[in-house]
Parts: sequence; C-alpha cells; structure tokens
Amino acid sequence: MAAPKVAVIGAGVIGLSTALCIVETCPSCSVTVLSDQFSPNTTSDVAAGMLIPHTYPGTPIHVQKQWFKETFTYLFAISNSAEASEAGIQLVSGWQVFKSPPKEELPFWSDAVLGFRSMSEAELQKFPQCRFGQAFTTLKCECPPYLLWLEKRLKATGVQMYNRKISDLWELHSEYDIIVNCTGIGAHQLVGDKKLFPVRGQVLQVYAPWVKNFIRDGDGLTYIYPGIHRVTLGGTREKESWNLSPDPSTTKDIFDRCCSLEPSLREAHDIKVKVGLRPSRHCVRLQREVLNQEGVKLPVVHNYGHGAGGISVHRGTAKDAARLVGECIAALRGSSSGAKL
Ligand code: FAD
Repeated sequence: MAAPKVAVIGAGVIGLSTALCIVETCPSCSVTVLSDQFSPNTTSDVAAGMLIPHTYPGTPIHVQKQWFKETFTYLFAISNSAEASEAGIQLVSGWQVFKSPPKEELPFWSDAVLGFRSMSEAELQKFPQCRFGQAFTTLKCECPPYLLWLEKRLKATGVQMYNRKISDLWELHSEYDIIVNCTGIGAHQLVGDKKLFPVRGQVLQVYAPWVKNFIRDGDGLTYIYPGIHRVTLGGTREKESWNLSPDPSTTKDIFDRCCSLEPSLREAHDIKVKVGLRPSRHCVRLQREVLNQEGVKLPVVHNYGHGAGGISVHRGTAKDAARLVGECIAALRGSSSGAKL
C-alpha cells in the first residue's frame, strides 16, 4: 500500500496536536489538516489554558491522569526551552481556595503538578472568606501562540492545511484513506452526536501586570490566571447555551467576583471579553470506527468532547488518537495484502 493519506478535521488544540502526534508516530503517512476555522477563531483560542484537569465522569481516573501527566511533561519541557515564549508556555504558581475543606483533600492530579501542598494559616490570611486552600505550581498554555507554534511545526514536516468546512465525512472518501475527527463542538452537527453539548464560557482578559499568582475558587467558577501579557478572569458555565455574544452583566459579575478574591484588580484596565463553547460530553470520544456504505469502508478515528479540560489533556489524547490511526493503517495494510493473495 502507498503512503496512507490521513485527513485531520479541526485546527483547535486537539486537531493540531493530533496531526503532530500522527506525523511523529507514523512518519510514512501523508497528513492534511482541514478546518473551517484556524487560530485565532477556535474555541481553544478562548481558553484560559491552565493545566488543571477537569474530571470526565465516564473515563477511568487512571486514564485521565495519564493524559494529564503526558501533557504536563510535554509542555514542561517546552517551558524549559528557548521556545517557551514563542509557544506561549509558562510556569505559574498560586492557590486554589475553599470556603470549607473539600471532600477530596488530594485531587487525582496532585502529584502531577509541582509542589502540591495545603496552604498555611499565614497564607490563608490573604483570603479571609476561605478556611482551606491548596498551593501548587502548574503550567499555563496560551493557545493563540501555541496553536501558531503547532502550525509552524506541522508545516515544517510537510503537512498541508486547508480552509474547508466538511458537511459529511463521506465527502473525503475518494481523497483520503483515514479520517480523524477533531471537530470539538462541531461534531454535534458533523456526526450527529447528541451526547455532545455546549457549555458556554465567558472570560475577560485584562491588563494587570502586577498580578503574578493564579487564584482559583474551589469549584473552579471564579478564577484569576496571569499570563505572559494579560490576566484571564473567569468565568461562567452555561450548559446548552449556543450564544457566542458577550453579555455585559456577566462581565460585571465576573469582574466583581475576581475583585473579591484579589482586590487589586479594581485597578485593572483594557478589558477584553471573549466567549467560547466547551465541547462537553460525559467522556472524551476517543474511538476508532469503520463507517460502511453499501460495502465501502471508511476508517475514522474520533478525538473530541474534551469539555472544560481540553488544554490540560490534549497531548495525552492526541497520542492515543495517533495510536488508533496506527491500528487503522495496520488493518488497511492487512486487507490490501489479503486482496493481493
Ligand atoms: P476547538 O478549539 O473548537 O477546535 C475545533 C476545530 O474544528 C475548529 O478549528 C473548527 O473550525 C473545526 N471544525 C468544527 N466543525 C468542522 C467542520 N464541520 N468542518 C471543518 N472544520 C470543523 N481547558 C483547559 O484545559 N484549561 C483551561 O483553563 C480552559 N479554560 C477554558 C475557558 C473557556 C472560557 C472555555 C470556553 C474553554 C476552556 N477550556 C480550558 C476548554 C478548552 O478550550 C477545550 O476543551 C478545547 O479548546 C477543545 O479543543 P478542540 O480542538 O476540541 O475544539
């Protein structure tokens, strides 16, 4: 069989990182990325980009931990290289604070971040409304530069990228051997996945260079995440809302909540508002499927539904998706050598 032709649909963090892992693990493949939007117009571009996992109830914890560890290790190496600023990756230290101690004092990812510990009484004095807190160092991945960095690496390996909206996976059948579906919330329409739903999130990006530590309330609804140029303030979680327009009353509410955690933010200025739809599902759909139309087969690998935590696990799920692409290639080679016998 000639070099297998693989089409990756989607140019968010999942599509681009999956395309890169396919190139790394199957160098004989010819990989093309097709997407109706590229950075800076994807959901990934809106993400705060903190490596703090969200829990998927339908995925075993050891698998989620593995995805997170692989992503952390990969980005940690970039943060420790000369490419850190171009790729938008930095280490950030800070606090997760609670009004009362949580049921689980040690989250499953506590040994994957750096220096996880309970906050001291002296540290807690910064947050008079809180009785418990955790301090740790994690990574922040700013997607607008990170996606450009991934695109640059893909182009350097010969990957082609085209602006194209796909209405039906079968339209790619005559051009490609394997399709990889990384369409995020777009999979709701593209493959009719009714288990996938949007969770609308609104965030503010402000100029407040004096804020150096992240602060997050225990349920993750209010957060302050300092980045390389701006501080991200969040957030909201509105299930089943498809509305991409910023809401001014929500902007005020987010700003007030963040100021109650970090009063110095009252002096923040140049507020920009962004909205994104988290592609949510009870578990990530990371699966191989063979579509069949009147005996004609089309191998597909799905990698979508990362909800509120796609940046935190992207490299781990991309590696698993690339492994599934490898299985598809082995199956195609098996069937083409069988056909020759
Ligand atoms: P997307 O970025 O949406 O990419 C999907 C791609 O598919 C796009 O390029 C789109 O154009 C393309 N596409 C879709 N349909 C089609 C089609 N039919 N034909 C062609 N192309 C198509 N995660 C974290 O880990 N940490 C955080 O701090 C964090 N903060 C967040 C804050 C907010 C406000 C939001 C909204 C999300 C946040 N997330 C965070 C979650 C994270 O953004 C997502 O999990 C992640 O971006 C999903 O990536 P994706 O590549 O699957 O989707």
